[in-house]
Amino acid sequence: MRRLSAALFVCLWFTQAHCATDYALQPTSVADGIYVFSGRLENFSRENGGNIVNTGFIVGSDGVIVIDSGPSRAYAEQQRAAISRVTALPVTRVFVTHAHPDHFLGNQAYSPQIISALPATSEAMRTNGDALADNLYRLVGGWMSGTQVVLPGIGAAAGRIVVAGRSLRLIAASGHTDCDLMVYDERTRTLFAGDLVFFGRAPTTPNADVPRWLATLDEIDQLDFATLVPGHGIVMHDHAAVAETRDYLRWLDQGLKEAASRGLDMNEVMRLPIPERFKKLALIDGEYARSIAHLYPQIELKSLPALNTGR
Ligand SMILES: [Zn+2]
Repeated sequence: MRRLSAALFVCLWFTQAHCATDYALQPTSVADGIYVFSGRLENFSRENGGNIVNTGFIVGSDGVIVIDSGPSRAYAEQQRAAISRVTALPVTRVFVTHAHPDHFLGNQAYSPQIISALPATSEAMRTNGDALADNLYRLVGGWMSGTQVVLPGIGAAAGRIVVAGRSLRLIAASGHTDCDLMVYDERTRTLFAGDLVFFGRAPTTPNADVPRWLATLDEIDQLDFATLVPGHGIVMHDHAAVAETRDYLRWLDQGLKEAASRGLDMNEVMRLPIPERFKKLALIDGEYARSIAHLYPQIELKSLPALNTGR
């Protein structure tokens, strides 16, 4: 009897340990040969294991192109397994859109020789990667087991490129971070926008240059896309996600500048009302507070000369 309970205990432990790192990734087909793994509209937690991000893949004629490897080694190993259930073709390229941990900490599941990023993104991963990984360990725990930073082996450059028999346009931009890559598939007119576009979830701004980001959104609006995969949020087949991201960032930018010109302190800015149309965005209260903490000190500093000349 004692042996049976011990066996049962081991079995339960194994099941729980196994389930604890099962991301249950299910690819959704969003265009011909284009698939997306949709993350939850949540903060990092021990429940979601960091699966708060959209990653995706493109099936070419002789290989598969992955866009972002996700938050952990376990995630990307499961991403890879899920891809192999769709096609027998090997993954021949992984593009990293930007140096945020939920987008690149799965690199380890792939050979560095097939991982590609813009040079400034690789540099940011080299400089900050370990600290970002440590922070994610703290936030999501065991899901990160065995995860280490793996740097891209191929430098990406803006322009047309044929990969795995698929004609792509790599678009170098900035605003969400100082280096954001977008991947545009010419055959299906699908744009992987990375975190330059959010939908249904408040944008994050820890490394953002908001005016620069707004200018990039204008450039995205000029692109002829039929499908847009945002970094976080629902895949769209129109420009609604671009419009929502722009609307929010414009309100945030103008609101903070106006608050600084009135001389409000950070606590007063935190208490300013959030418009009804943004209250429906996931994580709005937390992201708004975080954005004020990131952005307001700089905006306040810039507004000082104007205040001084008014004296
Ligand atoms: Zn990001």
